Formats: sequence, structure tokens, C-alpha cells
Amino acid sequence: MNRMVGLGICVSGMVCGLPALLAQTGGDWRTPAEVADYRTTPDYAETMAYLDRVVAESAGQVKVEEFGRTGEGRPLRVVIASKDGVFDPAKIHASGRVILLVQNSIHAGEMDGKDACLALLRDIVITKSRAALLDHAVLVFIPVYNIDGHERRSPYNRINQNGPEVIGWRGNGTNLNLNRDYMKADAPEARALLKLLHRWMPDFFVDDHVTDGADYQYDVTFAIDAGPDVAPGTAQWIRESVTPELERQVDAAGHVASPSTINLRDDTDPAQGLAFSDNPPRFSTGQMILENRPGMLVELHMLKEYKSRVTGNYELLRALLEVMNRDAAKLIALNARADAEAAQLGAHPLGNGKFPLRLEWNGETTPFLFRGYKYTRELSAVSGSMWVKYSHEPWNRTLPMATGVKVALSTTPPAGYVIPQAWTRVIDVLAAHDVRMERLTGDWTRTVERYRCSGMEWQGPPFEGRHPMFAGEGAGAEPGKFGQCSLTTEQVTYLAGSVVVALNQRLSKVAIHWLEPEAPDSAMRWGFFDSIFEQKEYGEGYVMERVAREMMEKDPALKAEFERRVMSDARFAASPEARLAFFYERSPYFQENRVGVYPVGRLLSLDGVPMK
Ligand SMILES: [Zn+2]
Repeated sequence: MNRMVGLGICVSGMVCGLPALLAQTGGDWRTPAEVADYRTTPDYAETMAYLDRVVAESAGQVKVEEFGRTGEGRPLRVVIASKDGVFDPAKIHASGRVILLVQNSIHAGEMDGKDACLALLRDIVITKSRAALLDHAVLVFIPVYNIDGHERRSPYNRINQNGPEVIGWRGNGTNLNLNRDYMKADAPEARALLKLLHRWMPDFFVDDHVTDGADYQYDVTFAIDAGPDVAPGTAQWIRESVTPELERQVDAAGHVASPSTINLRDDTDPAQGLAFSDNPPRFSTGQMILENRPGMLVELHMLKEYKSRVTGNYELLRALLEVMNRDAAKLIALNARADAEAAQLGAHPLGNGKFPLRLEWNGETTPFLFRGYKYTRELSAVSGSMWVKYSHEPWNRTLPMATGVKVALSTTPPAGYVIPQAWTRVIDVLAAHDVRMERLTGDWTRTVERYRCSGMEWQGPPFEGRHPMFAGEGAGAEPGKFGQCSLTTEQVTYLAGSVVVALNQRLSKVAIHWLEPEAPDSAMRWGFFDSIFEQKEYGEGYVMERVAREMMEKDPALKAEFERRVMSDARFAASPEARLAFFYERSPYFQENRVGVYPVGRLLSLDGVPMK
């Protein structure tokens, strides 16, 4: 419709063709999505225009701040609602109020949280029906995190999702998934987010999404980590006080909530039950585990109507703020304790001993009343595999949920790490995470622990712009694989300027996850150390012929080993390069190449380290 014509025939309060424009004037405080009856979601400019109106009418209770720029140069903005107009994080922490940070639209086609936050903010500071939510809490939210993806609007961005009409795209301006970028922080958005996080030091973090996956009755699903990698006191509070209360309140508000996100063990057969999923720090809420803060993953169900999803998201955030108000003092104490425990991790052997790097299902299940839909399965001529067809008839069934967890990979934290300063990109990521680092003031020789690694396999197709040593999502052929790293104790000289990362700090877990090579999102796995696996000097064949003969003459056992290998390994026997390499790899020249020697040292103690 032509806008001028529409304006000419509309009067205030009347339903007409241009409700979005009406909402921008006078006392109509409906959000843009509400005005459109949830058929549409506002673009970034409309979103910020609504927020500017709220700021102007909020009597100083709301502020919008810029916290960086996207890759395409758009200003990243955060909204703060504080009852007394105090917007200084330190003063808010000192006042004993808790801070909730909500991140919306990291996947910008999943913008339910943005529209929910606009409504919640309006009800807190304009209509004041929810004003009490700021009594002991401050609401900080990012309306749109992945703005470049959000503005790449199309009706065809998410084939699974039931509206709104035009939505954003999953990746950022360089097609990176920001919710795989928390640890490696490749994107400018991720780096700005980490700065924002540490500026505000929220007491609780929420990341709002919309599901992919199965069909079922729940419109609101959420998960808050409370496993063995979460501080025990915090985990207990989440399990006993937070999760059940959120489920109860969201259900009471007329929604169907699941206190766990739904991952089927078999995508074509819900009756097989629910799977376990680990939460490594490439994800926002996985990162929050390393930040010693509770983090909630919210997944609204993709096939529910947009109104149901936005209002469900609203009720979940509202209920969480109620719990945070109720338990403010307790939450502050739990977070302080989690920080203190993290700063003890390097106090080996007084620390926790074994620090979990990766969790796995241990085979135990718990009965879970699954509110699904009746479905049928048949062999499909299209896909050649099983086709699941959902009805919308409720199917309530108690199913096994994979809840038992074991620590599949752990490490004994050292007192600290030392990184040769040439590894600038590795150090740069730690700096982006605000990990505290010192520099060696002079060349320094010390016995340290170092890993020697071999057998790595890199993924063929890219995953998040890299070729990691793990199997990325949907990557198809040639998944990457971690070989093995074994720890040796040796004397190493580190040059002046090398970086020392002591673990007696709040962010010790970030350093451990980045620098322990086998950790799921380590610098090693993401490819930041790939060059250590490259052989840089080689022996010419005619030179190696002479060396090989000399080595066999000096060492009959080596000669016997070589001959056994030739007899038993046909591929080896057929390769002149492999046969000569056998000798090169056993010569001092190869050792000097240091192939696979991980350059980061594990410090057994911080005593006497010359650093500042
Ligand atoms: Zn998502």
C-alpha cells in the first residue's frame, strides 16, 4: 500500500493499513511486532527508533550505548534499564543489584528475543506493569547482536521457521556463525561482545534462539548448564531453584515449557528418547561456564506462531528476572565464590586436581515426560531413508532422557602457561578475552611440561572459515580428528617478552581451554598451531643414502628394525621417500625440526618467574 494514501484514511486508534506508523506517534506503546499482529519483525532502524522513543519517555531509566561495530560498520548497541538511572556497572554491582545480560539475534533469523525484550522493557519503564523487576536487578540487553545478518532480510532465509514474513540470516557479514565464535573470537562482533561482557560482568546471561529439529507441543524450551563443569553451588541453585521455577511460571502463563532443549537421539523417531549434548566454549553459554556465570540457552519452537514464540520468550525472561530479584544476594555470593574457585585452579596440587575439558553421556537415563505429537514413519522414495510425519495430536510419553554425565577428558591445571611471543595470534585471542598476562623480563630457562603431538587430521571442507582438528557440523567427508599429545618434562629457554598466563585469576578456565591442545575449542584444534606440524628442512635422497648407511653400520638394532619394516609393510617398502625418511626421522636433524612440539610450556610453579 502507498503510505500517503494510507495515512489519509486512518484516524488514531483505528485499525488501518499503516499501524506501524501509528505506533511511532502519541501514546501508542505497542511494539512494532505487536502493531503488525506479529506478522512482521522490525528491521534494525525501526527497532532502534522504538527504543529511542522508550529512552525519551523513560524518565532517565533507560540508556542505549554503542559497544562496537559490526564487520559492515553498523554500530552495535546495548540497552540498559536501571530503576535509579545509574548506568555505571561498578556502582550497580556495589549497590547489591544483579545484572541480567540478554543477547538476541546472534542467529539473526531467530529474532523472537528482540521483540520480547522490546515488550518487556516497555512494561517495565513505560506502562510500569512490570516495574518491580528492576527492584533488585538491572536489565541489559542487546536487541540485535548479528546486525549484518539481521539486515540481510528475506522471506527465504529459514525454510523450517513459521514466520515472521521477512527475517535475517544466520551468519555475519563474512558468513561466520557467531555462536561458534565465542572462543576463537575471529569476528569483530565477537570481540566487541567479550568487551561488553567484561564491562558489565552480568550475574546471569541469556542467549535467545529459535529451534531447528523435531516437532512437539512445547513452544518454549530452555537449558541452563548445571553439570560437573559448573561451580557446584551455582549448579545446585540452578537445578533446585531456577529451572523448576521457570518451567512452572512459563506454564502458568499459558505456554508449554520444556526445562531442557530437545535433542532427539534419532531425528526420525522421537520414541528413542532424548540425547545428551555437550556445551563447549565455541557457544555463548559454553563460554559462560568459563566465565563462572550461569547462562541460559533459550530455544523457541520454530513451527509455533510468532506471537506464541515472542510472548513465550517474554514470560521466560520475566520469570528469570523475578527469580533474580528474589535471589539477588544469593546469586551475587554464588558468582563471587565461583570466581574465587576459578582463581584457585592453578594452585596445584591444592586445586581441583582434575579439571573437566569435555563431558560425555555415561549411558544413564532419567524418565522424562515428553510432550510430543503423534507421528508415523515410513520409508521415503525421495530421501531413501525414514520419513517422519508429525500430526498435531498430542502424544505424551515418558521417554528416556540421557542425563548421566561423565568427564571424558580432563587435565591437571598447571600453575600457569608460558607462550613464546612469536605466537601473536594465539596471544591476541587471550587478550580479546581479557585474560591477564605478564611478559618475561629477560631470557629464562626453566624445566617445564611440554606436549609432543602427532597423528592430527584436518577437516577437508571448511568449518567456520577454518579446517579444524575435529568434525565440524554438516561438514561431510574428511572430518578432522585430534591425534595425540603426550606430556614431557624438559628444560626450555623462553626469550624475553614471552607471555606468562598465571592461572591464579578469574578467567583461568578460558586460558586452560585455549591452551590445553586437546580441549574441544583449543587454539590447536582450531588451527592456530598448524605450522608446528610442517617439516621445514629436508634431506636430499643422495645425502640420506649416505646417512642411512652410516646409521645402520653404527646401530645394528636400527638396521634390523628397518629390515623388519621393509618385510612387513608393503607400502613402506614401495616408497623410496618413506624408506629414506625412516632414517631422517631418527637423526638429530629431524629432532631439530621440532615437528609436533607444542611451544606452550606448562609451568609447575610461578616461583621465581621473572615477569611483569
Ligand atoms: Zn540459533
